[in-house]
Amino acid sequence: MKSSKKCPHCGQWSSWNHDPADRCEHCQHLLDPDAFARQQAQEERKEEESKRFTVDLIKINPDDSSFTKLWKSIGLGFQLAFAAVVSFILWLIAVLAG
Ligand SMILES: [Zn+2]
Repeated sequence: MKSSKKCPHCGQWSSWNHDPADRCEHCQHLLDPDAFARQQAQEERKEEESKRFTVDLIKINPDDSSFTKLWKSIGLGFQLAFAAVVSFILWLIAVLAG
């Protein structure tokens, strides 16, 4: 669907595809800055949500001292054991509920 929209920046009419990223043919400013800002905010929210579900595991660097490596691997072991227990409980709940 093609239509035209009056540019809020220069006041000239420009063709508009109802896309928030459409720009004015005359001054290259956004035709609908509010819609563009809304779209950006929505994308940021999606990204934050996807980040929240990724487990942040301890990283062992090759240049760590053997003492640091030992503690980090113990911590990593606990993290993995915890993740395993949590997923087991979730599985148990799913089985018992079904
Ligand atoms: Zn313009």
